[in-house]
Amino acid sequence: MTRDQLGPGPLSRVRRLPKKAAYDSKTIYSILDEARFCHVSGIVNGRAMALPTLHAREGDVLYLHGSQSNALMRSIVERGEASITVTLYDGLRLARSGFESSVAYRSAVVFGAVSIVDDPQEKLRILETFVDAVLPGRSQEVRSTSEQELRLTLVVAVSIDEASAKVSAGPTDDPEEDLELPIWSGTVPARLVFEAPIPTRNGAMVTGDIELPGSVRALLERS
Ligand SMILES: Cc1cc2nc3c(=O)[nH]c(=O)nc-3n(C[C@H](O)[C@H](O)[C@H](O)COP(=O)(O)OP(=O)(O)OC[C@H]3O[C@@H](n4cnc5c(N)ncnc54)[C@H](O)[C@@H]3O)c2cc1C
Repeated sequence: MTRDQLGPGPLSRVRRLPKKAAYDSKTIYSILDEARFCHVSGIVNGRAMALPTLHAREGDVLYLHGSQSNALMRSIVERGEASITVTLYDGLRLARSGFESSVAYRSAVVFGAVSIVDDPQEKLRILETFVDAVLPGRSQEVRSTSEQELRLTLVVAVSIDEASAKVSAGPTDDPEEDLELPIWSGTVPARLVFEAPIPTRNGAMVTGDIELPGSVRALLERS
């Protein structure tokens, strides 16, 4: 079950350039799902801190995982709330002035309550979701998580209580008086590309001798 609108609310209302804002879950969840990682913000030992980490979304919940002693994760659990940001870099928007020049992006900011996932079966299921969030289909190709790995891993659930997206796209916003200046203006789209896989050469087995798995082949076809 997902909600259609995740904002605006007291935390998520975009004040600066509100015309770029979106609050519908379709837009926000597509940004969260496309993002390869997020930044989690919190207070650690009295100081503001933001750290990059992987995330996986299921419905209106974002999952994070890390070591049981992860300081930032522990701090958001203790506080009971978190703010999480993701950003997709879509290229350059080059105006005729530096002031109006910018980058194309889609970003999302999430605010929500935090809880620890304790149940081992549920943890296991979520960790598989993580593996597939990084590379769809990979959880079916790897060995299963051991009990010790499960014990060492902290899994945190952040309910997506409020969220906003900001989307910067389209042609540049040169003001009227700049339009006749003989300066090139335009956009340069950018995207993430995966290159040829390099098999692992450590250990007894050279994995280059093993057929490339379906998950990696599908990734390269999508790239
Ligand atoms: C790649 C990238 C580069 C940027 N570069 C700059 C820059 O150089 N200078 C600059 O001033 N700004 C930049 N921004 C925009 C920046 O993220 C803020 O939106 C902006 O600085 C306004 O800050 P504020 O505190 O006034 O936000 P406010 O509008 O007051 O923020 C209120 C609420 O709006 C929402 N919100 C704000 N920003 C975003 C966002 N980006 N995505 C989703 N929700 C948001 C949040 O829920 C936030 O709590 C950039 C954004 C991206 C993604």
